[in-house]
Amino acid sequence: TKIAILGSGGREHALAWKLGLDMGEENIFVIPGNGGTPNNHPLDPMDFKALKSFCESKGINWLVVGPEDPLAQGICDTFAGSAVKVFGPSKAAAQLEASKIYSKRFMKKYGVATARCLYSSEAGDPQDFIRSLNGQVVVKYDGLAAGKGVTVCESEPEALEAISDLKTKYGKDVPFLLEERLRGREMSVIGITDGKTIRLLLPSQDHKQAYEGDKGPNTGGMGAYCPVPWYTPAMAKAVQNHVIEPTMKGIREEGFGYRGVIYFGIMMTEEGPKVLEYNVRFGDPETEVILPALKSSLAELIEGALSGNLDSVHPQFYPETFLDVVLASGGYPGSYQKGYEITGVEGLTAGTLLFHAGTRQEKGKLLTNGGRVLNVVVRGKNLEEAIRKVYPETDKIHFQDKYLRRDIGRREGNL
Ligand code: ATP
Repeated sequence: TKIAILGSGGREHALAWKLGLDMGEENIFVIPGNGGTPNNHPLDPMDFKALKSFCESKGINWLVVGPEDPLAQGICDTFAGSAVKVFGPSKAAAQLEASKIYSKRFMKKYGVATARCLYSSEAGDPQDFIRSLNGQVVVKYDGLAAGKGVTVCESEPEALEAISDLKTKYGKDVPFLLEERLRGREMSVIGITDGKTIRLLLPSQDHKQAYEGDKGPNTGGMGAYCPVPWYTPAMAKAVQNHVIEPTMKGIREEGFGYRGVIYFGIMMTEEGPKVLEYNVRFGDPETEVILPALKSSLAELIEGALSGNLDSVHPQFYPETFLDVVLASGGYPGSYQKGYEITGVEGLTAGTLLFHAGTRQEKGKLLTNGGRVLNVVVRGKNLEEAIRKVYPETDKIHFQDKYLRRDIGRREGNL
């Protein structure tokens, strides 16, 4: 089986690594890839025509889509009828991520636990909703905005300002959602589905903010770990009953024929789990820890999803904790420099994994090429040991303006 992976981040390197172990690296192609991925091909992930002719001419069997944009734009639909099978949802199903209003209506229709909300299109004054919740609301732009379309508010004026900012940015009829602000601990569950059955990978948590103590601006993610140390079997059962099962019922009844990844962003509240968002693809950096933690084959899960036989696949996991620390370019998520030489990667201890993100190779040198540069992943018998092991490893790698958080995994209730 020949597999092409679409994307260029740490997530795609982790996918290439795991699928390379399963199927042989010579069968893995990465489009466009980065300085660490095998068999790179420099095609634009949004140029579906070029991708299709490339995959068909190379005899690619599966195309595994990393990022959300090609899915939201219908890459899956473009390949319909091709011998190349796309692992990812159709454009219709990708609305679960691409439109927050669509996904909220879906959750309500199928009884998926989520925050109460008011749609911008609904009659009635948003101010009443905001006031009734004392300003404790979340304002969400309907569409994809790379994490920048969401404002978590503390007060009524803050919420009204977030709404007026959206109107300034997108026009006065901008579609948005007002949501009750939930309190609790956030975590992610990622599953693979064939549209009927779902197989969950291990639960994980990431650190989104740029600075230690989970402060500062949001980034793509500065680190992650799995499993989640405080996640109990009772919590898993509640997630199964109130999140996973009703979502799968919806996927079946909507007739999506969904073959791909579904990601549940969940807040564990006092009232139980509530869905914050769906993603229709692997998370980054969560993938960099959940794939190392997967003991059995990923290819087998993908094959099961693509052929509709996922019910016969039973994934197995390592019992240890996996922890990822992101090495970023100083300045990220704001502006930063690229093109600095990276040294020291060959000195990592055996067993430490290195997933490249913003890197490229030039004349035998490895250079920085993005905001998030590298993911250093270690395995420990528990979170404490993983934390102890990871920083001596990150300190072996050097590039100008290297920035990392030294508190990945340290969170209330974790240690
Ligand atoms: P990202 O790119 O970070 O996934 P997104 O644009 O898809 O973001 P959401 O995931 O819906 O948006 O929200 C982003 C973040 O805002 C969440 O990770 C969560 O921390 C916070 N958030 C969203 N909804 C709520 C809510 N109802 N209550 C409290 N916090 C929330």
